[in-house]
Amino acid sequence: MKQYRMYVGGEWVEAKSKALRQIIDPGNGELLGTVPESNREDVILAIEAAREAFDKGPWKTTTALDRGKFLFKISDLIRREAKRLAELEVKNCGKPLAEAEFDVNDAANCFEFYGGLATKIHGETMSVPANSMSFVVREPLGVCGQIIPWNFPLLMSAWKLAPALAAGCTVILKPSELTPLTALELAGLIHEAGLPRGVVNIVTGPGVGAGEELAQNKLCDKVAFTGGTLTGRKILEGASSNLKKVTLELGGKNPNIVFADCDLEAAIDGALFGAFANQGEVCSAGSRLLVDKSIHKSMVAGMLAKIDRIKLGHGLTPGVKMGPLISKAQLEKVQNYIQIGIEEGATPLCGGKRPEGSIFNKGNFLLPTIFDNVTPKMRIAREEIFGPVLSIITFETEEEAIHIANDTDYGLAAGVWSKNIFRAMRVVRSLRAGITWINTYHPTFNELPWGGYKQSGWGRELGIHGIDAYLETKQININLDEAPIGWY
Ligand code: NAD
Repeated sequence: MKQYRMYVGGEWVEAKSKALRQIIDPGNGELLGTVPESNREDVILAIEAAREAFDKGPWKTTTALDRGKFLFKISDLIRREAKRLAELEVKNCGKPLAEAEFDVNDAANCFEFYGGLATKIHGETMSVPANSMSFVVREPLGVCGQIIPWNFPLLMSAWKLAPALAAGCTVILKPSELTPLTALELAGLIHEAGLPRGVVNIVTGPGVGAGEELAQNKLCDKVAFTGGTLTGRKILEGASSNLKKVTLELGGKNPNIVFADCDLEAAIDGALFGAFANQGEVCSAGSRLLVDKSIHKSMVAGMLAKIDRIKLGHGLTPGVKMGPLISKAQLEKVQNYIQIGIEEGATPLCGGKRPEGSIFNKGNFLLPTIFDNVTPKMRIAREEIFGPVLSIITFETEEEAIHIANDTDYGLAAGVWSKNIFRAMRVVRSLRAGITWINTYHPTFNELPWGGYKQSGWGRELGIHGIDAYLETKQININLDEAPIGWY
């Protein structure tokens, strides 16, 4: 069992109160280690370290080329430690090893992508109606608070840190109190890469107090948040203290639309993977399956024929496709939604309960659950459950499918299954969602912007768009007219 410390101002520190939090493996209840349980006082010290590093430290004059080299170095170190990081990620957040390995590799790719982008931050020159040389430069936004959830701890750390560092910002990152371990390991690698002290600070602690301080503190120029939509609203309120810049990556209730002219086997796989990968604890999970009525029977039969192939177990057990839910509280929340679905009159087709067997008793396991005969007004069709629960809704026309798909407060992701490219494109262009897939579900690329319409968020992460959220824009005008202004 390891006693972790936080990373503040280039040093490993405890919480001032000396309080500790135990970190538990959700797959077997084992104690993995302890981390400092910080409060506002600790977070303020981290913010001051980041402020000092931004205003006075060598980071300010570090060239874009050198910032890029730091990011490449961090990427190399992640790859060197990939096995250890992936196993730790499995133990801390419950995901199957193959998914954790994917996350670690993608986190390294993310640092590489932004390492390359650091030297491609360009300004512009403009023609203006005056004898002036007028141009626009991009400058680092400043000190950025970053808050992330528990479902992709290392990957979300990379998505937050890499663009901010490429832009020249300094950061204070707070991982979820449930899954802080790989972010702290990453802090060790960042230290080894030799970043100047205070440029990256990783604080551990709860949302109340520690997280709130990051949103509210006036020394922060920005807060970047990934998490639930309700928490996102609180972040906005906190950020109003100094009108700091805000980006929000929030929840989803994403439609996965299956038309009769699809490749049925591919759509069946896409529906199951879309809903149950990472135990359904994915913001972009295809949790609403919209199925053309004419193929409903064969779609359901095909899914039920394959559902038992989704092997449950501890993420380190070979062949496991679904691990435990993150916590007992999350398990209870999802079980409560299953009860709501039954009471609302939806038809449970499979799952709905915990798997039997002694290996499952110690972890937060739940069988993949499919509800049929769901109507768009039911709560299980409208609210983000964030667990392995899929709601099937049927439609009869393309217009009806689009209407149901868009009839939601969210707008994060959506999938369309059809062999007719004209239809698929027509439908995708009608969907109010930021991330869409045709004849696939879930592939995510560092090169493409990630984020949502409506209440799924503000702004975009990843891709060349993602760096905009960490840059300010300044116009510079050089007068080329030698005559005085002539005001008098
Ligand atoms: P959450 O909102 O409960 O917590 C997220 C983070 O915010 C944690 O670090 C938490 O400590 C912190 N926090 C909580 N209350 C806070 C407050 N009042 N002030 C400041 N910080 C606070 O979310 P969660 O349960 O950890 O994660 C699940 C949610 O995250 C889901 O809604 C999911 O859709 C969303 N999510 C979105 C994306 C995306 O890219 N859009 C990605 C992953 C997860």
